[in-house]
Amino acid sequence: AATPTKRYSITLLPGDGIGPEIIFVTKNVLKLAGSLEGIEFSFQEMPMGGAALDLTGVPLPEETLSAAKKADAILLGAIGGYKWDKNEKHLKPETGLLQLREGLKVFANLRPATVLPQLVDSSTLKKDVAEGVDLMVVRELTGGIYFGKPRGFGINEKGEDIGFNTEVYATHEIDRIARVAFEIARKRRGQLCSVDKANVLEASMLWRKRVAAIASEYPDVELSHMYVDNAAMQLVRYPKQFDTIVTNNIFGDILSDEASMITGSIGMLPSASLGESGPGLFEPIHGSAPDIAGQDKANPLATILSAAMLLKYGLGEENAAKRIENAVLDTLNKGFRTGDIHSAGNKLVGCKEMGEEVLKSVDSPI
Ligand code: ATP
Ligand code: MG
Repeated sequence: AATPTKRYSITLLPGDGIGPEIIFVTKNVLKLAGSLEGIEFSFQEMPMGGAALDLTGVPLPEETLSAAKKADAILLGAIGGYKWDKNEKHLKPETGLLQLREGLKVFANLRPATVLPQLVDSSTLKKDVAEGVDLMVVRELTGGIYFGKPRGFGINEKGEDIGFNTEVYATHEIDRIARVAFEIARKRRGQLCSVDKANVLEASMLWRKRVAAIASEYPDVELSHMYVDNAAMQLVRYPKQFDTIVTNNIFGDILSDEASMITGSIGMLPSASLGESGPGLFEPIHGSAPDIAGQDKANPLATILSAAMLLKYGLGEENAAKRIENAVLDTLNKGFRTGDIHSAGNKLVGCKEMGEEVLKSVDSPI
């Protein structure tokens, strides 16, 4: 291995259910890919979610948040489980995740949806539609209707109960998410589609105007605009037309879930959440899968690919990221599959063995 020249500190938050299994496996992959690129990691494991509740009484202990803030990047497994489902809101594992995102001020959520050639049959779409899909949804995470004020319940002129929310975006919120999306599109295939509802909503009108203005800083990226209803349709009709999509909080919530179903492999999908400065948060999109926890059945690839995103988007270490991405493809090419992506003719393996196979491929790529 090359002599270590670069050092990064990574906070690991294994969490609950299959979290500890997938984080254990991924840590080893990250370590090896780093060492082959002259990178040395120091890992710090901290409690979070249900595990933290049992240990300390809160889902996000102060020590965990302050460690995370000081790290160069954070890798999270998964949180939650039946045991804590009936807890009050402030004592739910999921509340800890919201507090973590808030504490890190991560406003950009990146969700790639890629149909790997080895897993085309997992897609919910017809083979010729699914084949070759490789897109990225960039969702604004800290503004819009989920946070806008005024909000609440009230009574209208007729004395009827009402509930109301407000979609608000300020120029700086749009500009910063637009820049993140343009940067990502630049690293991908150079196409950015901004999704809004500018024919109806004022917040979307400003969104469209600002995204178009920021485009002048990125002459190498091709910008298009699409209404969200059309985008929802185009995603299942012909998803290959998309490279990078940028959209607001609520549209992104819906479209990123829709995009993930195109691939049909929840155990394969990573995500990243980035802030202006400070560490990014990287995690698989799936939950803690309590039904298979502790049985060595979990697919670790979503978390391993989250580690690749950590290297690429969190640390700017694209070579090490590429090593991991290639190792995952290599392992699938050799026919290794966990239960969730298994089909006839392939080799069924558990979480640990899958991790070991990826390690072999990181070490000696074909
Ligand atoms: P959420 O946690 O988002 O509320 P959920 O608890 O329904 O949703 P998951 O925990 O992701 O979602 O589990 C959904 C299903 O997918 C379960 O049957 C689970 O076993 C399976 N699953 C999720 N992640 C994986 C994985 N990494 N490997 C194998 N199976 C998985
Ligand atoms: Mg869950």
